[in-house]
Amino acid sequence: MVAARSGDHRRAQCIVLKRRLRGAGLQHTSPEIHFSRLKKVSIHEFGHNLGLPHCPNKKCVMTDAVENIATIDNANFDLCEKCKMKI
Ligand SMILES: [Zn+2]
Ligand SMILES: [Zn+2]
Repeated sequence: MVAARSGDHRRAQCIVLKRRLRGAGLQHTSPEIHFSRLKKVSIHEFGHNLGLPHCPNKKCVMTDAVENIATIDNANFDLCEKCKMKI
């Protein structure tokens, strides 16, 4: 399965992301926001493992904005309709 290889790659990237989130001024962030960001990144990475690409919809959890600490809070926890159709 092709997805298994990219899944391994994504898992490594996920660890890097969590480290980056922790380092990005999280002392000033409440545990709730910290947790919601981690949850969002986890859903996002899970989407990649399912074979979903990045989504142009900035509200979609599969938007590349979720990989950026500055824009992650703009995205929803949910997939947009287009991404739901791809699964
Ligand atoms: Zn991504
Ligand atoms: Zn989407």
